[in-house]
Order: sequence, then C-alpha cells, then structure tokens
Amino acid sequence: MPTRREVLEGSAVLAGALLAPRLARAQAGGASAPAEAPVFELPPLPYAADALEPHLDAETMRLHHDKHHAVYVAKLNEAVAATPALAGKSVEALLQNLEAVPESVRAAVRNHGGGHANHSLFWSSLVAAATRPALLPPGPFAAAVQVEFGALAGLEAALTRAASGVFGSGWAWLSAASGRRLQIETTANQDSPLSVGRTPLLGVDVWEHAYYLRYQNRRADYLAAFWNVVDWRVVAKRFADAA
Ligand code: MN
Repeated sequence: MPTRREVLEGSAVLAGALLAPRLARAQAGGASAPAEAPVFELPPLPYAADALEPHLDAETMRLHHDKHHAVYVAKLNEAVAATPALAGKSVEALLQNLEAVPESVRAAVRNHGGGHANHSLFWSSLVAAATRPALLPPGPFAAAVQVEFGALAGLEAALTRAASGVFGSGWAWLSAASGRRLQIETTANQDSPLSVGRTPLLGVDVWEHAYYLRYQNRRADYLAAFWNVVDWRVVAKRFADAA
C-alpha cells in the first residue's frame, strides 16, 4: 500500500505532467513516420476505484473515469490530429485561449479539452475519507477561506448552493481570481474557468453521470457526501501555486 507521501506525489504528477501533450514521435521513425496519435492520454485514477466508498461508489468511478473521461480524451485527440496548429499545446493553454483555436475545431476543444482538464483536476482533488485530515493546512488558502467564508463549512455551503443551482449538466467551481481571491462560479457543460482567466482549484461535477447510479436524482445527497472525500491539501497547494 502506498504511503500518503507517495499518493500525494502521484497526484502532483497527475495534475501537472500528464496534462501536457507528449511530443510528436515522428522523429523516432524518420521523415516517413506518421505523426502518431494519441497525444493526450487518460491519466490513471490516483487511487483504487472503490477508495471513495461509500461516498462515491466504485461503479460510478469506473464508468466516469474509464468511459466518460476516456471519450473526452479520444475526441480531443481527434480534434488536435485534424489541426496541426494545435500541436504541442497543453490542454490548459488551449482552454486559456480558445479564440486562437481554429473555428473548425473550437467547439470540440472547448467541450472535450474541457472535459479532459476538468476530470483530471477532479480525480486528483479527491482522497479516501479515512485518510483525510480533518483540518485545513495552515497557510494562504486557510487564511483566504477564513476571510471570505468564515470557515471551511462556509465555503462548502457556498459551493453546495452553487452546485445545486446548476441547471442541466455543468460544474461548480472554487477558482482563484486575480488578486489571489477565492471565487465561486459555475460553468455549463465542460466549460473551464481557465477560459475566463481564472485558475480552477476544485470542481464539483454535477453532470448526472457523476452521481446517478448511487444517488439517482438526489443531487443534494451527492453533494453532502462529496465533502467527505475532498482533499483540501491539494486545493490549498493549487491556491498557493496560482500566480
Ligand atoms: Mn464527469
């Protein structure tokens, strides 16, 4: 069984390196070798599929990761393969400047690139409830939470309200806004806070695929359970790292 440190380091790798595209492998085979797909890869879950039980069930986690996220990756790769101008760009860079993406694939990059980035962030934000520290680590994130929400419970309540209000498929976010402020926002579909100049710190997936098997139409029950598996240490580190 991996130690906490090993798991955390794995999460850091997941959140960073795996979101950058691999360089084209064409040079390895000489000039005649095709530029090979895939460029973006599905990151593995950083824990077992049943690690978040009973809050997030194993079957949902498997379908959500192995099927839903995998399709976003495959379709993002199709879009990038059809568009040489996008080669070598990270998914974050694409989402931060959608205007620069050719119109022929802009919607595909927005939807599937967003789906890839959002879900990669989502998996690495979660941790088994039994191993989760009860308190926020002291530092700039804890200080900002206290100033803006009074306490972690206030932040969770505000994010729950936002997530409850998403009509249809989308996300509620805790983002870092300019001036190192915390901001709660929502996006439709797979839109990312990156596309409006913010840094996502934590996303709450309120697509029905995220909860329907266990919670059916009871989004409020899913949201109540969700807070048991959020790894605030990861969120705090993202805030500290945000420019
Ligand atoms: Mn999802």
